[in-house]
Parts: sequence; structure tokens; C-alpha cells
Amino acid sequence: RAEIRGSHFGLGIRCLTTLGHFGFECLPTQLVNKSIQKGFSFNILCVGETGIGKSTLINTLFNTNLKENKSSHFYSKVGLKVKTYELLERNIPLKLTVVKTVGYGDQINKEASYQPVVDYLDAQFEAYLQEELKIKRSLADYHDSRIHVCLYFITPTGHSLKSLDLLTMKNIDRRVNIIPLIAKADSLSKNDLQRFKNNIMSELNSNGIQIYQFPADDEATAQANSSGLLPFAVVGSMEEVKVGKRMVRGRHYPWGVLQVENENHCDFVKLRDLLLCTNMEDLKDQTHSQHYECYRTSRLQKLGFSDMGPDNQPVSAQSYTDVINVLVSTPPHIEIRGVATQNIGDFQEMYEAKRQEFHNQCQREEEELKQTFMQRVKEKELTFKDAEKELQDKFEHLKRIQQEEILKLEEERRKLEEQIIDFYKMKAASESAQAQVCTNLKKD
Ligand code: GDP
Repeated sequence: RAEIRGSHFGLGIRCLTTLGHFGFECLPTQLVNKSIQKGFSFNILCVGETGIGKSTLINTLFNTNLKENKSSHFYSKVGLKVKTYELLERNIPLKLTVVKTVGYGDQINKEASYQPVVDYLDAQFEAYLQEELKIKRSLADYHDSRIHVCLYFITPTGHSLKSLDLLTMKNIDRRVNIIPLIAKADSLSKNDLQRFKNNIMSELNSNGIQIYQFPADDEATAQANSSGLLPFAVVGSMEEVKVGKRMVRGRHYPWGVLQVENENHCDFVKLRDLLLCTNMEDLKDQTHSQHYECYRTSRLQKLGFSDMGPDNQPVSAQSYTDVINVLVSTPPHIEIRGVATQNIGDFQEMYEAKRQEFHNQCQREEEELKQTFMQRVKEKELTFKDAEKELQDKFEHLKRIQQEEILKLEEERRKLEEQIIDFYKMKAASESAQAQVCTNLKKD
């Protein structure tokens, strides 16, 4: 039972107060259960020079030894190492993909060092777009490899950003949420660190580089955005060090121990909380709604699409989806560029005309193919007939020769048989003559 409160809520929607239990209060629980069943995924990109502490920080963040070999400094160009891990925290599964630069900052000419990073980010957007554009898409099972956050490791020089840092961040800031980090912050004194942070932020601002803005819903995140905290000064370590009676993760120096999880020593805990605890979902949302959307818009615009009709009226979302469906179902050699600026009615007419044209063309091609096929069959038949006749002639010729041979042999045999008969006759005559002579001699 529901009671109509009578008030109007928003655009003529009436707000009702329920007077009983209906069950839809459990909707959030249903969502949570479904999400847990499906599992979560998070993709991190670590950009920074070789040996700056990328692997150590990722290990420290997830308190796991994601085993890896040390990177070499001798790569001729920048590459990316991609690894996916399945993590579990109190039955919550997380598919974590860590992408790290390899050989970044190791070449003499660093001009193109950012390009592999840009290409990788775009390639993940493109893969998602292709899946999204399929008629039968399976986005629910799709392994979304779009990068949700880029941890940019700044070398702790204490001075300013390097030109490579500015160039890379400038080229990726529209593609990914950048969180700048001062790596190995234990090498800077407190005052140097604050000055360095200020320098970095003003350099980022003056170069128009956009970094990730933590949503200011609560005090902690608002504080993160406020000047002073960013970029996070981080220290990574998987080493367990004894402090008093406790074992803590830290780095042991001759002068003392730096505790990674001590907020007075570095910003590691703040980074971990803001990254994993509070804003992981927001980073994913931003990736989809801001960066991916930007990529998608420019890709579709390059294909000739526009949200405005010729009368400068927006094309409806449904029509737009129709257009995309047409795009993926249209044979590639049918040119549809430029037609999206028409309104959708025109577009459908045009599409129908194109489809008809394509159909006719197919039929013409099929007819031509049939003709060519028949022609070739006839030609082949003639060739076979000629060959057959030739063979037949050869056979007849051989047969004639063979018959002549047989006749010749028959004749020779007949002659031989006559000679044999003559011989026997002569032999019999000579034997009877011999016998006559013998008889005459005996009589004498
Ligand atoms: P990667 O090449 O960027 O992945 O760097 P690694 O994580 O392999 O670290 C390279 C070296 O730097 C190792 O010897 C680490 O112990 C050391 N290292 C990592 N993080 C820190 C840090 O925060 N401070 C200091 N002083 N050394 C670190």
C-alpha cells in the first residue's frame, strides 16, 4: 500500500510515502550482491623512470609481492609491461591490471617516449568502442582494459618537473586520470618537499595539464584537492622494521626508520585511502564518462557523425544508436561518411537507397559471375573434347600399327611352318632312301 503525498517532485513526478514493506528497499543490497558476484576490476598505469620505485609502490599499496624481475636500463625504446592479478580482500575479488612503463627516460632522445603510452591508452578505448559498436555485444563479460588511473612517478629532484614529465602528462591528460606522485620522497627534507610540491603544481597549472580532481564530497577528499597535499609524496617498501615493540613496514636508515604508513613521514596512507578506499569507483566513472567519452566523440566525428541535424536540432539518442547500428552493419564499401549530419529521417531514406543499391550491385555481380563461370565451363569442355579426340586418334594409330605387326608375324609363322613341313618331308625321303641302300647292300 502506498500513500500519495500529493506533492510534485521534479518534472511532475509525484512522491509517494510507503505505508508497508514492499521489498524495494533491498535494491542496494541486490546491487551489492550482484557486483560482488561479478567481481571488480581496476586498471592502473604506472609511468616513471626505471628504478623510480613503481613496482615497490604497487607491492606496498596491495601489500603483496607481485613478483617481478628488475627492469633493465638498456631498452632502445619505451615499452609497456602488462600484468593482471586476481586479489581477494575479505571475499571481495579484485582483478587488478598493472601496466608499467619499461625503459622510460632511458634513451638519449626522449622526444617520442610518451607515444607508446598514448598508443596503449587509445588501443584500450578502441577495443571497448569496437565491442560497444557490435550488434551482438557482450559488455557484461567484456574484460575492460581501459586504464582507470595513471600514477605518474616524479623524480625527487627538489627542483621542478622535467620536460619529459610535462610532455607526457600533456599528451595523456585527456585520456586518463593522472595522479602525480613524488617518488622516493624520503630523499627530500620537509621544507624541500613542500617547495617541490608547490613548484610542481604551479608548473602543471601554467602548462594547462589536467590532473585528476578528487570529488570534494567529504572533507578528506576536499583536502586532497586543496593545495599542499598534491602531488602525493610517497615512499614504498615491503620491508618489516621493528619500531618499539611493533613491526611496521618501512625503510631502515642509519639515522632512523621511515614508516611507510605513518602520515607524518609520507603521504602513502592518504594516497592508498583516496585511491583504493574512497575513489576507485569515481576513477572508473571518470574514465568512462569523461575520457572514453572524449575518445568516442572524436572517433565518431572522424567517421562523419554529428549530434546535430541540418536544422541544427539535436539528433535523439535512439536515432543516434540507430546510426551506430547502421555503421556496424553497413558493408565497408558503402560510403556513409558525411550523411550523419542529415536528420535521421533523411538518413534512413538514404540508408534504404544505399541498401537497395548494394542489393542491386550484388545481384549484378552475381549475374556477371554466373556468366563468367558458364563461359569458362564451355571453354574447358572444348579443351577436354580436343584432348579426347587427340587421344582417340593416337589410340587408333597405335591399334593400326599393332594389327599390321600381328599380320606380319602371322605371315612369318606361316612361312616357318611350311619350311618345317618341307624339312620333315625331306627328312622322311632321305630316311627311306637310306633304308633302300641298306637293303640293297644286304642282298649283295
Ligand atoms: P621500478 O623500476 O620503477 O619498478 O623500481 P623498483 O620498484 O624496482 O625500485 C628500484 C629500487 O628503488 C629498489 O632498490 C627499491 O628498494 C628502491 N625504492 C623503491 N621505493 C623507494 C622509496 O620510496 N625510497 C627509496 N629510498 N628507495 C625506494
